[in-house]
Amino acid sequence: MRAFVGLGSNLGDREATIRAAVAALGDEAGVEVVAVSTLRETDPVGYVDQPPFLNGVAELETELPARDLLERLLAVERRFGRVREGIPAQGPRTLDLDLLLYGDDELDEPGLTVPHPRLHERRFVLEPLAELAPGLVVPGRGRVDALMAGVH
Ligand code: ADP
Ligand code: MG
Repeated sequence: MRAFVGLGSNLGDREATIRAAVAALGDEAGVEVVAVSTLRETDPVGYVDQPPFLNGVAELETELPARDLLERLLAVERRFGRVREGIPAQGPRTLDLDLLLYGDDELDEPGLTVPHPRLHERRFVLEPLAELAPGLVVPGRGRVDALMAGVH
């Protein structure tokens, strides 16, 4: 299955953390990293009083079910120092890994929503996605390049 993972960091050595996390994902059984977008600096959204993020997207080929893949993503976040306790939603993090797309699947389960519910409105996700796969269709939303034309 082809999957796309959102990569983000705004604490510590952001690029080193993201590169190491991508390598760690590739080391997981049943996960192959196919491509990694350019990493770009972006202003925080939502909770804005925090350092700028470095964001990108990784394309994976995986044999893992979506639920298992998300569990691996969250485990890698923890390994790279992500602390959730006492930190506001969308607040600062050493590492954020989001399951953006899992093939054409549309899943809405406790703790697992795919496509990622805010993917279609986030330029910092759409841009790197479009770099890897401009014609990609976000199930229920449309083509990535068209979505990007609709966000400011
Ligand atoms: P955000 O990345 O939107 O700032 P968090 O990373 O703090 O949010 O929280 C992610 C939580 O949302 C995880 O605990 C996870 O269970 C849940 N979740 C649901 N769907 C997804 C998804 N597609 N990708 C990542 N996390 C997801
Ligand atoms: Mg996340």
